[in-house]
Amino acid sequence: MTKEKKKMPLATQIFIALALAVVVGLLFQKQADFLTTYIQPFGTIFLNLLKFIVVPIVLFSIMAGVVSMSDVKKVGKIGVQTVVYFFITTALAMVIGVGIAFLFKGTFPELATSGLEYEATEPTPFMDVLVNIFPSNFIDPLLNATMLQVIVMALILGFAVVLLGERGRDAVSGINLLNEIFMKAMEMIIALSPIGVFCLLAPVVAANGAMVLGSFAKVILAAYIAYVLHCVLVYSLSVKLLVNMSPIAFFKGMSTAMAFAFSTSSSVGSLPITLECCDKMGAEHEIASFVLPLGATINMDGTAIYQGVSVVFIASCYGVELTPAQYVTIILTAVLASIGTAGVPGSGIIMLAMVLQAVGLPVEGIALIAGVDRIFDMGRTVVNITGDASCAVIVSKLNQKGKPQSEELAITKEDSFE
Ligand code: ASP
Repeated sequence: MTKEKKKMPLATQIFIALALAVVVGLLFQKQADFLTTYIQPFGTIFLNLLKFIVVPIVLFSIMAGVVSMSDVKKVGKIGVQTVVYFFITTALAMVIGVGIAFLFKGTFPELATSGLEYEATEPTPFMDVLVNIFPSNFIDPLLNATMLQVIVMALILGFAVVLLGERGRDAVSGINLLNEIFMKAMEMIIALSPIGVFCLLAPVVAANGAMVLGSFAKVILAAYIAYVLHCVLVYSLSVKLLVNMSPIAFFKGMSTAMAFAFSTSSSVGSLPITLECCDKMGAEHEIASFVLPLGATINMDGTAIYQGVSVVFIASCYGVELTPAQYVTIILTAVLASIGTAGVPGSGIIMLAMVLQAVGLPVEGIALIAGVDRIFDMGRTVVNITGDASCAVIVSKLNQKGKPQSEELAITKEDSFE
């Protein structure tokens, strides 16, 4: 008889690591130098692994997203409506996220980021930012982790595979396989996050004392206000204005999936429940089965909000005043970064590295929020799946002909999909 040892969930491990880092940091404030010299390097190893995985993850997850759209050709209109809706809502999420963070900016502290060196770089003019999105070399973007260029490469190559049609079939399987391999590697790296969190955070707490803890409350509050605002404004108005569905009925219909996403922090893991909720709300099963998995791969409004808020917070901590051009870069990069974020726990923080790099902020700044990332993650995953579901319901309704609206999308027991 084998008795399997039950593994502690990663979320619990991370919370324990966080609590430990705070206790150790506060107890050893006088030994902050020791922690910075001997503990922080292990955190740096964790960060290096994150940096190592970010390029292939972006490259292959975006390519896999694009090649999966070969079906879009078949469903034509549905695919276009879906992608347009995803893009617009994510852009709105970013504007709300950065806007709220901007309002909170005054309350964010400037920290003694001991050991987390940062050299101010000259801000790049906006037109140069635009030109620099496009690669002039195949290897450089991969080598230097120039993420916007990596994304453009992924889009060009992905569409090339789609245009090859039948002849691109092997490439599609290859891309999907590589995507799975790197996802697995990312899972392995994420499993190390409790150690990474402890080693990165303890020295920061020791150097900054309790002030750093107070600052978490404010940045978390800012993110959650933006999450709620986005749901209430964007999703409520979308379902009401586009398909005349009651927002209350929509959120009620989604409540099970939202609770599940909150506790698992995984859009992909929540997929079956989200699908069931959409079915019960009267969405077309075929349409929801297309929109939701695509959304779990490329549509991450909550993640975009989180990245916007975090970047503004990290800039504040480093005492960096962001320029308007940098705000535009943050919005642009985070929209793209959220597309490249996998629907699994903790992947949003990996993509945060890319947004930080795009505005010349140090990736090490992630240390400041890594310990509480799970708290952000729970909320952002709820927003992510709610965005996907709103799209499934709206696109379904827009493509349903011949039924009166009230019959299609009101939530009643008889409404469940058959
Ligand atoms: N956990 C999120 C999701 O599954 C992704 C993220 O980390 O931002 O949607």
